[in-house]
Amino acid sequence: MKRNVIFRLFAVVLIALVAAAPVDAKRVKYVFYMIGDGMGINHVRGTEIFNRATGYGPAELNFSQFPYRTFITTHSASSLVTDSAAAGTALATGTKTNNNYLGVDAEKRPLSSIAMWAKASGYGAGVATCVGVNHATPGAFYANTESRSNYELIAEQLIASPLDFAAGGGFINQKSKTGHDSAYLENLATKAGITVLHGKGEFTDMASRKGRVICLGDNSLSETDLPYAVDHQPGQTKLVDFTNAAIDYLYGNYPKGFFLMVEGGSIDHAGHNDDPVTDFQETNDFAEAIDAVLAFYRRHAAETVIIVTADHETGGLMLGAGSYEMKPSLLAKQKYSENGLTARFRARFYKPAETVQGHTDGAPMAQALQSRQNTSWEAVKDFLKEELGMWDTVPVSESAEAAFKATYDKTFVRGENDDVVSLYATNTRIVSDAIDFVSKAAGYSWAHGSHTGSPVPLFAIGAGALDLMSCRDNTDIPKALAKLAGYKR
Ligand SMILES: [Zn+2]
Repeated sequence: MKRNVIFRLFAVVLIALVAAAPVDAKRVKYVFYMIGDGMGINHVRGTEIFNRATGYGPAELNFSQFPYRTFITTHSASSLVTDSAAAGTALATGTKTNNNYLGVDAEKRPLSSIAMWAKASGYGAGVATCVGVNHATPGAFYANTESRSNYELIAEQLIASPLDFAAGGGFINQKSKTGHDSAYLENLATKAGITVLHGKGEFTDMASRKGRVICLGDNSLSETDLPYAVDHQPGQTKLVDFTNAAIDYLYGNYPKGFFLMVEGGSIDHAGHNDDPVTDFQETNDFAEAIDAVLAFYRRHAAETVIIVTADHETGGLMLGAGSYEMKPSLLAKQKYSENGLTARFRARFYKPAETVQGHTDGAPMAQALQSRQNTSWEAVKDFLKEELGMWDTVPVSESAEAAFKATYDKTFVRGENDDVVSLYATNTRIVSDAIDFVSKAAGYSWAHGSHTGSPVPLFAIGAGALDLMSCRDNTDIPKALAKLAGYKR
């Protein structure tokens, strides 16, 4: 008995020594940098609570089980509350900058990112996201501009960059600025000799493809974000498809080693909408991409490091809505995002039917307002009952019902504009209010629809992962990863 205890103690000490041993930098060949945009600690825990109550995802997210965990600060050079451009720049280059600046320092001098350090050291490098391929987070790894809104310039910088692989829903472009659209940028990439692939059906033979590759979504010209996971239809391309394509391509071309950044970009968009179900299903979708990375990790564990973190927290999501209990199962009924529900609401009650094309574009309301049908309060109540469980699984008090009825009167009796405008969507007031109501009943509350200055979690596994626990601020991460992988900076 005593002998057994001594043996076990010896084994524990041995394991601890091996785990703490410094890693030979040359051994870390494969670096995976996973960024959940807007994914604060309550988004992670909130998703697990939601999953346990509904069965819509794993009770424990894969990355929350990683052996190494810490937290990092996210402030920018200009504010305690960062935006995605300054945070992306810090995570990519190790330098703080002002909000809205992308890949340049606070004096607007261009910075080099860890993806470029990997390339300069002879490794492959790629970025993937479920939002626009030239959105802030991926852009921070290849672009240098004082405004994240310079989408055309950022796309041109991607095309001119040495990045081997990039993936996203599509190229964002604001036609109003230059007269050029997303198709113009796709053509520009093709003319530069880059293979541009559309939808997972085209992501074939990735390992044997030569030359640079850009993978886009199924409808890249009209929807530059992939559809929200909660609105996903069978057969549509997902973040995990981009991730698998990236791994196959990079490993096929660079067996010596590669760097890959994967962003769960729409967690943030759902946070800006204060839409918990959509937020949690995006987090599950991000975890699905991490599953693909873990499958690679299991084959190359001694040479692979995976880091999962966030650029900032979005929405001020709270677990608890003022009482000492949560009822997360009340969220089970919601099967579409706030944007998706708005599209269904407009399709049912407004003539001509209005639909939302992709979750970055709000449908124009003027036409709908002029020709709104004679819709009864009972019909609207039925919609909220069917789609969200109100008056069914979710109790609605008389005073709460009176508030919804007042919104109905405004919208349908008086014909007032009912748009709710958030950063990435224009939705319908009564749907937005109903999602807030059900969320609170379930025990989730939001401070607002913007970013917060909360620290964010960092999870790590693999070769040298213990070394990453010294990171205290977002700027520490790329430096620590570069050191592990032996990148020349
Ligand atoms: Zn962000």
